[in-house]
Amino acid sequence: MEPKNYQRIVVKISGEAFCREGNFGIDPGEVARIAKEIVEVYKLGKELAIVVGGGNIVRGAMLSNLGNIHRSTADYMGMLATIINSLALQEAIEFLGVETRVLSALDVKAAAEPFIRRRALRHLQKGRIVILAGGTGNPFVTTDTAAALRASELNADILMKATKVDGVFTDDPKKNPEAQILTQISYMEFLNQHYKVMDATAITMCMENHLPIVIFNIHKDGNLKKAAQGEAVGTYIGSEVSMAFGKENSYGSE
Ligand code: UDP
Repeated sequence: MEPKNYQRIVVKISGEAFCREGNFGIDPGEVARIAKEIVEVYKLGKELAIVVGGGNIVRGAMLSNLGNIHRSTADYMGMLATIINSLALQEAIEFLGVETRVLSALDVKAAAEPFIRRRALRHLQKGRIVILAGGTGNPFVTTDTAAALRASELNADILMKATKVDGVFTDDPKKNPEAQILTQISYMEFLNQHYKVMDATAITMCMENHLPIVIFNIHKDGNLKKAAQGEAVGTYIGSEVSMAFGKENSYGSE
């Protein structure tokens, strides 16, 4: 299969990528590392919109389960966390000489522009990296869903989920040494198997909008660039692919 030439890419970066593994908060060194990877992809001439997670600061569902903070409030706190991460990422990217704009689904007038689809498209056309903060602006969903929504709205060629795991596994690799990574899988197979690495809501939205997804490990240098160039990394999710196992397989049969 010819490598795919993605032009407009939406990258979802988990909050965990903003700190050292197993830690919380923001580690400027880690943010600088991600910024470098993003700028490398930008320099390939790609249009990039980054949807930022907030799990390194607050995860709404987890926080509300711990005590008496209502789930909606906890989720708004999580959305604010994505804004904090977005501002850190903006600084780190601009330090490398590339112009960015942070567009937020929640109003934070002093720090970011509001998310307006046409404005986001204009920034992309002007060669700015767009950082999408505040998730969808609504509670009870995660930034995976925000990423699927924004990628659909912006007519992206691909949604890339940059996370802490290598891709979709047949089972939890930490508990089951027999677990195998899937190099490709269809949306329906992913949903039927109840895999957890990405939200079912996000997968469904991508399926309905014919938007392919790649899930890969952001902690491995160069993965983002490889994925952007259409090389096989992690797991590819699309409509006309079927389960394929293995380590270094190409995406194969689509
Ligand atoms: N969140 C939300 N609505 C959204 C996006 C995010 O309520 O549209 C909240 C939710 O509480 C979530 C938190 O923000 O747990 C942080 O986002 P997420 O857990 O997706 O971050 P990640 O796992 O990607 O770091």
